[in-house]
Amino acid sequence: RPLSFSPTGFYSSEKMTGLFAYESSDLDWCEDNYRHSEHIVEYFNTVKMYLSETTLQLLWTILYGHNDDRYSGQERGINVCPLPTGLFSAYFHMTLSFMGQMLDELSILWVLGLCYGLWFPRRLFPSFIKDRTTFSRLVMMITVVTTLCSFVKPTANAYLLNCFALHIIYSLGLEMRTCTDPKVLRLCWSAVGLWVLAISCWISDRFGCSFWQKLNFCYLHGIWHILIVMAVAYASTLIAYLDANYEIPYSLPSLQYWPNDNWVLGLPYIVLKGTTKTHKRF
Ligand SMILES: [Zn+2]
Repeated sequence: RPLSFSPTGFYSSEKMTGLFAYESSDLDWCEDNYRHSEHIVEYFNTVKMYLSETTLQLLWTILYGHNDDRYSGQERGINVCPLPTGLFSAYFHMTLSFMGQMLDELSILWVLGLCYGLWFPRRLFPSFIKDRTTFSRLVMMITVVTTLCSFVKPTANAYLLNCFALHIIYSLGLEMRTCTDPKVLRLCWSAVGLWVLAISCWISDRFGCSFWQKLNFCYLHGIWHILIVMAVAYASTLIAYLDANYEIPYSLPSLQYWPNDNWVLGLPYIVLKGTTKTHKRF
């Protein structure tokens, strides 16, 4: 069970195959291993992961994917991100291999880095940073350093990723202090509420597994995946809306829900009512 690999051991082929071996990761979720298939370690976590990520991918493609003048290359590029993340996650739960774990966690880290660089509100930049390009470079540096550090103690990575979620919620809180639009506030509360439910499932699966095994219900990690994908869909719409509102206000962005504005868990999306060219300045 490799905890970390040293630079000297990296090239040994035996060690390399070991990194791909089934159950070579130190993580193991509550779901019974090999219960439904001899080739898939955690059947429900794998299948649900794949389904929920494909749904998110579909949503993002519908929301941001069309070849519209108003979206920059980076913004169009970022909408393909859920697919590799979903595939790596499914691969991780299928094998519980060390390589699967790292691919899964690092792909999430890099998507987060890209999103921070692209959408983090300019007003919340540290005072020594004047423009988005410098901010993006700083984020890129932090992402590279975090990537290297992730090999030191891989079991801590999942906790670190959840800390990013806390920082995003904190930043949204700062943004919401000056917001009076009920639609925006509602979207923020839905996203935070979904995240609280999701993280409760994650923690409960991690630390209360023996209890859930007694009840013969070991699927909380699968439920976490579904809830977190919903939370990401809500939060990314909110962040994209805030970004459009501050950076390209003349595009007249507004929030709507599909299929109906009154549905509690309708799907949020952004409508741009302005017709002029609305490229973001960098
Ligand atoms: Zn998972």
